[in-house]
Amino acid sequence: LPEALVDSFQLQVIGEVRSCFKEKFAIPRQPALAPAARGIIELRPPYNQPHALAGLEQVSHVWVIFLFHQALDQQHRLQVRPPRLGGNQRLGVFASRASHRPNSIGQSLVRLERIDEECRLHISGIDLLDGTPVLDIKPYIPFVESVPDAWNRIAEQPPALLPVDWQPAALASAREHARRLQEPLVELIEQCLAQDPKPAYQQPEPSRQYGARLHDVNVVWCYPEAGRVLVLLVE
Ligand code: SAM
Repeated sequence: LPEALVDSFQLQVIGEVRSCFKEKFAIPRQPALAPAARGIIELRPPYNQPHALAGLEQVSHVWVIFLFHQALDQQHRLQVRPPRLGGNQRLGVFASRASHRPNSIGQSLVRLERIDEECRLHISGIDLLDGTPVLDIKPYIPFVESVPDAWNRIAEQPPALLPVDWQPAALASAREHARRLQEPLVELIEQCLAQDPKPAYQQPEPSRQYGARLHDVNVVWCYPEAGRVLVLLVE
């Protein structure tokens, strides 16, 4: 094979993710942190047929290999400052899961809820933006990929969760939108905000408001005191 062909191999997008996350802010930093985060993988022809998916109904989780399409225009540096480490500690790009990386390839282990009659994959626990281009899908193999004695000294513990309180009107509105959308919206908001989406170094005034779009709903919240979230508005 000519070396040049291998060196600049072209990848083909096989489908797109339809996600509850319409913007990057407030997406969990890894999959499984918000089980209520749901999406659909819509495959492109010729992959959107039962032939290509035969057998996949026998697995509970899949690896989704994807393009960080909203980071493609960013410069790729050799070092990154992961938000989880407070945004001021540097790591080599290959020691991180940052979206700014060579080839902009991401991988997320997600739950496969079901495959519908249109060969769409319903997935949950996602950390993927709406419109994310999918490059490949592979079954998770627990006895190979779940490593009981594995360690990672950079991320030893799951992040501490913040308590999330609600303004009564915001909670009522979230429940109404949940019914309309047929989605676990209250859980989704609580799971995402408990991760504390704001950069770790920010110590906002109680009056400072943050917002993000989940499904077709705007969610506004604040930090009435350090370490506590209050949902102000869901509209
Ligand atoms: N689990 C994947 C991995 O390890 O490769 C992604 C980890 S990355 C730290 C997760 C973050 O990427 C999310 O919080 C979101 O802000 C961002 N993200 C998700 N989908 C994206 C996309 N299509 N383009 C750019 N950024 C995206």
